[in-house]
Amino acid sequence: MPAIQEVDDRATRALRPSRETVQRPPDRAPSPYRWGHAGEVYPGPWQVQGLFVWAREPVGSDHADRGGSLMSATVIVGLQWGDEGKGKTTDFLAEQTSMVVRYQGGDNAGHTVVRGDEVFKLRLTPSGVLYPHMTSVIGNGVVVNPLTLIDELDMLTTRGIDVSRVRVSRSAHVIMPYHVALDRANEARLAGAAVGTTGRGIGPTYGDKAWRLGLRMEDLLDRAVLRERLERLLPDKNLLLSSMGADPFAIDDLVDLALGWGDRLGDHLDDATWLVQRALARGEHVLLEGAQGTLLDLDHGSYPFVTSSNPVAGGACTGGGVGPLQVDEVIGVMKAYSTRVGSGPYPTELLDGIGQGIAERGNEFGTVTGRPRRVGWFDAVPLRYAVAVNSVTSIMLNKLDILSGIDCLRICVAYEIDGRRIDTWPSSGAALARATPIYDEFPGWSEPIHGVRSLGDLPENARRYVTALEEHAGVPIVLVSVGPERTQTIERAWRAMRQRQVVPA
Ligand code: GDP
Repeated sequence: MPAIQEVDDRATRALRPSRETVQRPPDRAPSPYRWGHAGEVYPGPWQVQGLFVWAREPVGSDHADRGGSLMSATVIVGLQWGDEGKGKTTDFLAEQTSMVVRYQGGDNAGHTVVRGDEVFKLRLTPSGVLYPHMTSVIGNGVVVNPLTLIDELDMLTTRGIDVSRVRVSRSAHVIMPYHVALDRANEARLAGAAVGTTGRGIGPTYGDKAWRLGLRMEDLLDRAVLRERLERLLPDKNLLLSSMGADPFAIDDLVDLALGWGDRLGDHLDDATWLVQRALARGEHVLLEGAQGTLLDLDHGSYPFVTSSNPVAGGACTGGGVGPLQVDEVIGVMKAYSTRVGSGPYPTELLDGIGQGIAERGNEFGTVTGRPRRVGWFDAVPLRYAVAVNSVTSIMLNKLDILSGIDCLRICVAYEIDGRRIDTWPSSGAALARATPIYDEFPGWSEPIHGVRSLGDLPENARRYVTALEEHAGVPIVLVSVGPERTQTIERAWRAMRQRQVVPA
């Protein structure tokens, strides 16, 4: 059976029959009206290659010849507690796209991208910035600490990266110094009950956004607006800060500081939604990159031990400026084991030498904070939930190499909660805290696998492990990463899927 058929079969027997698999029509011809319109208004159409072919028109069709589908937004989403290696995934896929958009989070998330001998730690700029052809967009759903962004742009420039293509949404909210101070003072006050935030003001900034008290990036350009807003909101912030024993802020200092940021970043500000929409209208590929992961989602994670935004794929629409039907692909990213930062229930946590070994080999320390991450066995219960809630169409599995040398591997397949077997991710954090994992066991493999480039060359036990994960996910694992570098990637169904358009249904 050819590889291509294997992928198709797996997708067809997915637990979640979806439009992407059995029911989705193979040809999604874009409306001729829209096409004509886009052609008149914007340059193009450009010739583009599909990331995954089921989103593209058959070879030889009118639209394929003219450059492919109008809708080619791909979302990259973390399926665990963040730190799944999305940086590498985006960097790997970015080669084939013209734009990468970060859609939520702030400088609490870090991406590490390795290029040859060079290691880039990025906190705000989307990982695709390392490619010279790429427009990197910080979307409206992100909260921006201007100081961090300026530092990062300077760092990239010093290292020879052209940052003129970094665009920042005018509507993205600004993390102000009082947000950071409030975050830290609040965590200190909560002591043992703290959420374990990174203390970077992300939560308070999203809070102000919802309260309609926030400052947006475009406000940094306007002294009058800045002063008027700060006059309205600063007294309350200072009152709160004083009540927690922290220092208040002076309005004049804040206005000057903010105007300085605006001066420095003004050239990067843009209407990000239209940037994205124009790229899609030209038939270009746009990658939308989330920070953190599904289990830290404000709505879908284990509340309150969550982040203050929506890392799930739906967040790409609100935070990146695309409509739900413009998203063709949702690539879920997961590690071959699990990690978690901060507090909160974590049923598969490993507190023994095996966990310590994984943490050391996997370098499981926060990119931004340096905090050691908690490490555990792979948990398939939230995986099934994450696949469903994100409409995941395919998966990149990272860090398989880190599991080399462990005699017996475990995958959590269900929980026992209050004496009952539970197969589904509980919405209650309290229930999760009482969960005891039920494991399937797998024999491990001893040899290093960094050099492996095809699934067939993996040790048999590693292949079995990957297959088991795929069966739990119900969607194909198309890429398997065996090292931090771009080249250390097994392109499993990747090329086969590109050819899928020529295979009869
Ligand atoms: P992100 O926030 O999801 O992008 O994750 P991080 O960047 O914090 O963590 C991923 C770390 O793992 C980075 O240091 C990557 O270079 C590294 N990494 C990614 N994939 C692999 C892999 O397959 N094997 C190994 N050994 N390291 C990897």
